[in-house]
Amino acid sequence: MLDVNSPMIQDLIKFSQGKKGAEMLTDSTVHEVLADVTGEEENSIAIIASLLSGKTTDEEITEETEIRLNIVRRILYKLYDAGIASYKRSKDPETQWYTYSWKFDEGKVAEILAKKCEEFSDEIKESLEFEEGNMFFVCLDNGCRYRFEEASENNFICPNCGGVLEYQDNSAVVTELRELMEKISS
Ligand SMILES: [Zn+2]
Repeated sequence: MLDVNSPMIQDLIKFSQGKKGAEMLTDSTVHEVLADVTGEEENSIAIIASLLSGKTTDEEITEETEIRLNIVRRILYKLYDAGIASYKRSKDPETQWYTYSWKFDEGKVAEILAKKCEEFSDEIKESLEFEEGNMFFVCLDNGCRYRFEEASENNFICPNCGGVLEYQDNSAVVTELRELMEKISS
């Protein structure tokens, strides 16, 4: 449906890959992805910044960020789950304890952004088809919106509140969606 080679997506990928390391963490789309993945945007950013500055273990990250160890661990595993962070396990020959060295995967973040963009494009396309293929009526009392068929079946009276339904010109919405669609697929 969507051309993944479209300039916008390519730009998005280039943009996120071009923004290396800590610079990437200033990108608002990246923030959004992290909020989605961990539910803790600020802590996630601090933890990734710490990884990028060369810290690799949860203890080092805790020390640098002053975020509690269990929170650091929880976020690291959520990032791992999403493929944004990975770890290597090694055994200390003296203590026999395992150490986990964590790494941040920038490429995966770019991939998630590209996928988000694709989903967005699909949504726009669906909305556009819906808006172009229907006539709409809106309730003057509570703003509920109905397709012509529904409005007509209810004699242009809102089935929710009994208010009067009035024709709504959706050409501005259609234009907006078309412009958005062109930007993505051109
Ligand atoms: Zn109503």
